[in-house]
Amino acid sequence: MRIDLHTHSTASDGTDTPAELVRKAATAGLDVVALTDHDTTRGHAEAIAALPQDVTLVTGAELSCRIDGVSLHLLAYLFDPDEPELLRERELVRDDRVPRAQAMVVRLQELGVPMEWAQVARIAGHGSVGRPHIATALVELGVVPTVSDAFTPEWIADGGRAHVGKHELDPFTAIRLIKAAGGVTVFAHPLATKRGRTVPEAAIAELAAYGLDGIEVDHMDHDEPARARLRGLAAELGLLTTGSSDYHGSRKTCVLGEYTTDPEIYGEITRRATGAFPVPGAGGRLR
Ligand code: AMP
Ligand code: FE
Ligand code: FE
Ligand code: ZN
Repeated sequence: MRIDLHTHSTASDGTDTPAELVRKAATAGLDVVALTDHDTTRGHAEAIAALPQDVTLVTGAELSCRIDGVSLHLLAYLFDPDEPELLRERELVRDDRVPRAQAMVVRLQELGVPMEWAQVARIAGHGSVGRPHIATALVELGVVPTVSDAFTPEWIADGGRAHVGKHELDPFTAIRLIKAAGGVTVFAHPLATKRGRTVPEAAIAELAAYGLDGIEVDHMDHDEPARARLRGLAAELGLLTTGSSDYHGSRKTCVLGEYTTDPEIYGEITRRATGAFPVPGAGGRLR
């Protein structure tokens, strides 16, 4: 059984529509795929409607959080999407991305880049707008050769010349709200050092004591020593460990199913969740 628990669609900063994503999951030989767009569940309905027979969809979202000035991402799985408190927080974070991206466009204009908001709005479409959309605009304008080249101090990396922070949730609040909505929380790529500062282990321990369920270990942004450290930490703190592609379509180099999650751990996630059930593909059986 092949299980990929972290992917993005055009509902945020991926390049495949939710329907394309679940079809590609089938082609990639995945049995289970989680759709975890940044700060939104708006891609779920389309993914469910297009779900191929042999693929099970895990509904989720990747929530933007911050602790002591450090940004982190929490993957929330199988929560009730209509639970009002979590819904309100999710929409607050999602909606704040618009003025924040507009402010980054102004910064870029001040740096002499001829970017207009309309260009970024076109690239983002109906998706939750983020830095990858701005990075794509920078590529279109010929300012940088690739999306990842935009994530430098010169441009839009954390603290970079044109970087503007966004509204982010307190992770303790997020864990509490996810649990109250029947969901399960996994700390995404905790040691992705190339994205900026990472959260200290002591803080991960506090989050674990507060109800964090697991940490993502097998991820493209973790080298082998980082994975070993995280496995040790998970064993010490009693956390589940997951693996996933963090697929973003053509905006990142990773492919669907590049890393996967152990079926037993997936089983434990579904046992803990009470807010939603995994959605079996049309005529398929529940996994
Ligand atoms: P935002 O949530 O708008 O601040 O943008 C963060 C997103 O940018 C992440 O979810 C990744 O998709 C992407 N990202 C962050 N760092 C990098 C990087 N170094 N190279 C490419 N993409 C990145
Ligand atoms: Fe992303
Ligand atoms: Fe992330
Ligand atoms: Zn992600």
